[in-house]
Amino acid sequence: MEKETIALHAGYDNKAGFGTMSVPITQTTAYAFRDSEHAANLFALKELGPIYTRLTNPTTDVLEARYAQLEGGVAAICTASGQAALFYAIANVAEAGDNIVISDKLYGGSVTLLTHTIKRFGIEARVFKSSDCSNLESLIDDKTKAIFFESLSNPQIAIVDVEKVVSIAKKYGVLSICDNTVATASLFNPISWGVDIVMHSTSKYTNGQGTAIGGILIEREGLNEFFKTSPRYTHFSTPDESYHGLVYTDIPLPNFCLRIRLSLLRDIGASQSPFNSWLLIQGLETLELRVQKHSDNALEVAKFLESNDKVVFVNYPALKSHGDYDKAQKYFKDGKASGLLSFDVGSYEEAKKIIDSVELFSVVVNIGDSKSLITHPASTTHSQMNPEELIAAGINPATIRLSIGLENPKDLIADLEKAFRL
Ligand SMILES: *Cc1c(COP(=O)(O)O)cnc(C)c1O
Repeated sequence: MEKETIALHAGYDNKAGFGTMSVPITQTTAYAFRDSEHAANLFALKELGPIYTRLTNPTTDVLEARYAQLEGGVAAICTASGQAALFYAIANVAEAGDNIVISDKLYGGSVTLLTHTIKRFGIEARVFKSSDCSNLESLIDDKTKAIFFESLSNPQIAIVDVEKVVSIAKKYGVLSICDNTVATASLFNPISWGVDIVMHSTSKYTNGQGTAIGGILIEREGLNEFFKTSPRYTHFSTPDESYHGLVYTDIPLPNFCLRIRLSLLRDIGASQSPFNSWLLIQGLETLELRVQKHSDNALEVAKFLESNDKVVFVNYPALKSHGDYDKAQKYFKDGKASGLLSFDVGSYEEAKKIIDSVELFSVVVNIGDSKSLITHPASTTHSQMNPEELIAAGINPATIRLSIGLENPKDLIADLEKAFRL
């Protein structure tokens, strides 16, 4: 099936239950068992079924099945937020004494999580140069458990050479994890390029209207076989004492998501509410249409900015002048580059004045909303980074980031034009 069709139909049979066209919201904490044997079988994984909404929920099940298919994976697991998804992805493979290798261009929350918070759990993050991956190999050792990067990074809007990262990850048998939030499942599918795990903050383009927080992880086919023999990830192939000696690789269910569900969701519990799953299901239905329009609008705005004297630099990889233009053409559907773009003006003061003068753009630290948003990364999303970290992350104090919405681009351009004149 093609993506538009998957996003509308996968994972839900409207002939079951009451035949509702809308996926029902199963708003429940727990589920009644038929009898004590049924309960025992569910806990022993002899039979699969819902036990408690912290672990699974029928509404969330639909979103997981739909997303897994959309990204070309075999399983998915929803979490309360994108941040929770990333924490689980790392905690699922690394423990104290291990390290992970991360891109130098990441979302601010991912930088603080991976370089500061996870360090308190004894996991070290080593940073690779994403522009050419030149130091990536030299950072990998026996204790490296993951390579993490964003396909299209927020807010730098850089595209990683996914083929190069994947070939190095495969050479060393290290899992690759790709945050595909900004590129979206519509423009890019990391698994089709050999990535092992895909992550999304579904709060952004999946939702599409800024109405719910959520996260998801998607696993590629074949990881169970990989874990069976991999010397790096023995906790998948040796007994889990917290689950009466369960060996994950003995269970014929996608192991990466299974272990998160049975241990991390069970114990840490950042699970998604059924209502948010339902909102995200509504959003996913129109993802294809929206991402096309976000991308087309952003390109028009980027071309306008490029022609304006007050603009020093426009960062949008669908522009021919952009350093990652070839990568956008190679990896992204029709060379489109989603709705995120940034530009530099002459100074911090000028950036502030423009942000305070626009009327259609809302000053919001979010992306992927149907309404256009404007932010100043240095003083907001990236304000917890020190000056060296800011420079390393490519954030200039005169950079303005736009998340282009679904308005008519003529109105957006007129609004920016007016702000430039003031
Ligand atoms: C927003 C965002 C996150 C974090 O997701 P939340 O749902 O806000 O927790 C992670 N990665 C990227 C690229 C994001 O834009």
